[in-house]
Amino acid sequence: MPDLIELSAGDLHRKLVAGDVTARQIVEHFLDRIEQIDGRIGAFNTVTAEAALDKAADIDARLDKGETVGPLAGVPIALKDNLCTRGVPTTCSSKILEHFVPPYDATVVERLDLADAVLLGKTNLDEFAMGSTTESSAFAPSANPWDLSRVPGGSSGGSAAAVAADLAPLALGSDTGGSIRQPASFCGVTGLKPTYGRVSRYGLIAYASSLDQIGTFSRDPRDAALLLEVIAGHDPRDSTSAREPVPDYATELEKEVAGMKIGLPREYLAEGIALDVEAAVRAAADAYQGLGAEVVDISLPHTEYAVATYYIIGTAEASSNLARFDGIHYGRRADGKMNVDELYSRSRSEGLGDEVKRRIMLGTFALSAGYYDAYYLKALKVRRLIKKDFDDALAGVDCILAPVAPTVAYKQGEMIDDPLSLYLADIYTSATNLAGLPAIAFNAGTGEGGLPIGVQLMGRPFEESGLLRLAHAFRQATDHHLARPNLTED
Ligand code: GLN
Repeated sequence: MPDLIELSAGDLHRKLVAGDVTARQIVEHFLDRIEQIDGRIGAFNTVTAEAALDKAADIDARLDKGETVGPLAGVPIALKDNLCTRGVPTTCSSKILEHFVPPYDATVVERLDLADAVLLGKTNLDEFAMGSTTESSAFAPSANPWDLSRVPGGSSGGSAAAVAADLAPLALGSDTGGSIRQPASFCGVTGLKPTYGRVSRYGLIAYASSLDQIGTFSRDPRDAALLLEVIAGHDPRDSTSAREPVPDYATELEKEVAGMKIGLPREYLAEGIALDVEAAVRAAADAYQGLGAEVVDISLPHTEYAVATYYIIGTAEASSNLARFDGIHYGRRADGKMNVDELYSRSRSEGLGDEVKRRIMLGTFALSAGYYDAYYLKALKVRRLIKKDFDDALAGVDCILAPVAPTVAYKQGEMIDDPLSLYLADIYTSATNLAGLPAIAFNAGTGEGGLPIGVQLMGRPFEESGLLRLAHAFRQATDHHLARPNLTED
């Protein structure tokens, strides 16, 4: 029997249904692996071993009785710790929510349960999903499985690291300005940020509601298709979720890519990109040409304003969303006797970290009387222009090929005192969220230090199928995915 750890989610499921393996064996295998490896990675905040074994026993019992099981039966999955899980701590890697146990499941969690996926635990993130390294977690940073002295990226760094280290074949994350794609790129896995509205956000603890979207981590695009099909679709509890029908992504993914037209935005291959990253993007473009796709030069002229626009809108929404964590409605309460103003202020001062406070202050400033028009309103107008850039470009091409991050993964601690440089590194990812478009990041080679380099494809709203198809074709035609992190004990 091949090592269960190395099987794709689809293969694990097929083996289970064929009776080659039990759900219990699969789950025990992954729990053992987490126990052996995660001390070095720190991908998980919480491991739900007992509940996972119970779920596995339930699936095995149903299979024994000849009952049908869901499309992800027996497949273990890790969830970013900003997705609400009933009875399981949901911390956002923040002290203020350290002891928060939600009384309900996020819609995606409900859907995964119905599909019979097995929840392994909750993964580490930058506090409240604000960051790019997982170092702003209030608990501990996570490490990059390819090189433990590097960051896995962020904010969904724990989810990306878990999949890269084979601690789980699937994971969910959230992407507000790149938080799925950038860690996927840094960890050499596939990360899909769906169209805004494709996946219900009910039960996702909000950072910036007009930008947040839940998406997938997997080893390959085929597993991404499988997982997206389970979590996508309308949800009456999220008014921004779309009624658009959910395609059969797994079938769509097998279709031809010859004749598809891919745009290469000149503004994304300009100043500031590392040579190894640029080379990987250009090599990916060549690979697509080899597959019969046409690659053309395009322009997204407002690219240079994306980061500033994202950090005004994102922080403005964050300042309002995070107002609920005041020690009374939600969250850790400061000890001692004091009046209510002091209680708010002490609870928030003690419970929130520096990056979160910085963003609340920036956002409060951008929304304040006298500055609203100059910053927030202006940013909304620029957002419109950025969206129009994509609409114009995507009228002529099927999708856009671009880098994900300007460099490979940073060293731990390298960027900790330099938030502005980290913000600027969101240049290639944040515009997609401003425009609400789908994008998929996948490994396209290695660069400095043998570290993975991801590229991304961005597409028209609700055209995840085309992105999955192109990412799948790339994997079939190249062997970058054969390089894997080496986690054997030294
Ligand atoms: N790196 C970006 C930031 O720091 C993205 C965060 C996200 O997508 N949640 O805000």
